[in-house]
Amino acid sequence: MNHNQTLSLAPTGRRDAFIAEYGRHFGARRVELIVKSGRWMVEDHAEGAHIVDTDGRRYLDFFVSSGVFNLGHRHPAIMARMRAALETREFGNLLYFSEPKGELARLLARSAPGGLEVVLPTVSGSEAIDLALKLAMGFTGRQGVIHFDNSYHGSTGYSTAMGPSAVRSWAGIENRAFRQLPYGDIAALRGALDEGIAAVVVEPVRSNFDGLDPGPAFFAELRRLCDATGALMIVDEVVTGMGRLGTLWGAEHNRITPDIMVAAKGLSGGVFPLGAVLMRPAIIDCWTDHPYRSFSTYAWSNVGVEVAIAALEETRKILPAANAAGGLLEEALGILRRRHPGKITSVRRVGLIFAIDFNPERLRALEFATALYGRGVIIPPAAISMPTSPIARLLPPLILAREHVEEFLDKADDALGTLG
Ligand code: PMP
Repeated sequence: MNHNQTLSLAPTGRRDAFIAEYGRHFGARRVELIVKSGRWMVEDHAEGAHIVDTDGRRYLDFFVSSGVFNLGHRHPAIMARMRAALETREFGNLLYFSEPKGELARLLARSAPGGLEVVLPTVSGSEAIDLALKLAMGFTGRQGVIHFDNSYHGSTGYSTAMGPSAVRSWAGIENRAFRQLPYGDIAALRGALDEGIAAVVVEPVRSNFDGLDPGPAFFAELRRLCDATGALMIVDEVVTGMGRLGTLWGAEHNRITPDIMVAAKGLSGGVFPLGAVLMRPAIIDCWTDHPYRSFSTYAWSNVGVEVAIAALEETRKILPAANAAGGLLEEALGILRRRHPGKITSVRRVGLIFAIDFNPERLRALEFATALYGRGVIIPPAAISMPTSPIARLLPPLILAREHVEEFLDKADDALGTLG
């Protein structure tokens, strides 16, 4: 198949008609910036590894909304479970239990690294991070938080306090109790953890920037320091979980034993928002004065819970094939590196997360993303904290197959030929 047909980004039919009709409702200036980026679409439908826009353009999805579509789009088992659930289920009352909620909590607890028996429901990842921090503060009676540079944990209160400095300052949520350290730096950890720290928030691999893998020694030392000071280790598995690192949870990859684990995105099966906070049982006991110290009306709809159960089952099944297909994509990146000497300096892979380091003198991740976009491939745009980054990332769906790798290779090869 010839994948090299360049898609026209000239003004065309329905995409532009959409902007003329609705653009102002999304903020005219904001929409102008989005359109100018060259990477935008009006989605129409999606299936498997592809999204089709309203003008009939087909895009290979190597972005997957950073993990929402880990099983691809409209996975048959997910859709079947959702349809079946809709026959009898609804959200359910925010205060009550249900059998599927029990089953999901048990499945999550059994799948997670040791001892995280208690599971609280949320809608989103940001909300789960905030809840995890509130629990850590309640449990320890402290407010200090350590987080790491070039990491992203969400867009609500505490999660924003760990985000890009531009957002922190205009939102007025610079929090002096929050301290940022260089990711993976053991010496910095040793100097920063003390009896004022409630929690350290960390990803198993730095997913939103460079795919950096600090390795098990970093997490072993972090565990030791948390135990010594009484700080809790909160692992953010929003992106690294649900198979992304080639294991169900990223914690397995780096042999991490957290006190609290946060999951979201992939649990949604791509069709129903759902997050979770898992913890050691002792932690929730800071709430025994009141069982609803923090709750969320739309957390764990009974429909979404059925979907999440199916998503866990399917992810487990698909992992061996996904890891094998990841090997093919790694080979393809090696081919690109050899064919375009001087442009790509290195390539990293952990499971199904890939990072390409470009020579910053030659090109940036955004240029590559835009050139791919014009050819019908979407990849994560760039690190939120660093839009000029020379590091591009690929997050293919776990249903990755040889034909997707070939499509990517043809189009990326063509794009790189015109860049740098
Ligand atoms: N943690 C990480 C690592 C994330 O990438 C994100 C979102 N991309 C979040 C937390 C927040 O999740 P949500 O967007 O569902 O609030």
